[in-house]
Amino acid sequence: MRIVLLGAPGAGKGTIAKQLTAHDGSVQISTGDILRGAVKAGSELGTKAQKYMESGGLVPDSLIMEIMEARLQEPDAKKGFILDGFPRTIPQAQGLKVLLAKLGIKLDVVVNIDVPKDVILDRLTTRRTCSNPDCQEIYNVKSKPASPDGTCLKCGSPVIQRADETEEAITVRLATYNEKTAPLIDFYQKEALLKTVKSLSSDEIVKDIIREIKKG
Ligand code: ADP
Repeated sequence: MRIVLLGAPGAGKGTIAKQLTAHDGSVQISTGDILRGAVKAGSELGTKAQKYMESGGLVPDSLIMEIMEARLQEPDAKKGFILDGFPRTIPQAQGLKVLLAKLGIKLDVVVNIDVPKDVILDRLTTRRTCSNPDCQEIYNVKSKPASPDGTCLKCGSPVIQRADETEEAITVRLATYNEKTAPLIDFYQKEALLKTVKSLSSDEIVKDIIREIKKG
């Protein structure tokens, strides 16, 4: 499968991407995870990206394209990939189109995960994340709590609220989404690749996507 997942922060892209990879061995490629790993490792990329990420704004397109150009050519991407959090702007979508043409591959589908704003806000403010960059398990204070001592059930590292998941940063991220990323819905509609899903259940969305791909 070669899929792009579109959706506001909190729409469930990460969860859906993980479920899809379990289905056929395609890799999940999340620019957010790659960037957080780089920040944690203190690499040059991380140092450049950190200030944009913490404010809730976007990392410059040129930096993102550099990351993705390398990532999509790694051997594990040959089996297929689920792009989660990329592209996020029209220039990134155009860059991806050029890159895929160069690599001689095509996307199967771009899935727009359309979740109401009140659900998004509730999910984001209650979300917690494992601080271990190799784990990054996601928790929710209401629906999926971490261990009572605040550590990860999988790896034992502290579970934290991300710096970009304070109310202030969330407001910026949603505004950024509406301004910079929502126009991709139109872009991919015109490319005849778009499928919109409205369910709040990731299981149902995954089934829908798999059905769509089999059809194609
Ligand atoms: P979200 O939960 O908002 O989808 P991500 O984990 O995908 O968050 O990304 C976290 C942050 O990393 C974003 O707020 C942004 O600063 C940066 N980022 C991730 N992907 C991109 C991208 N494709 N273009 C620009 N910035 C990005």
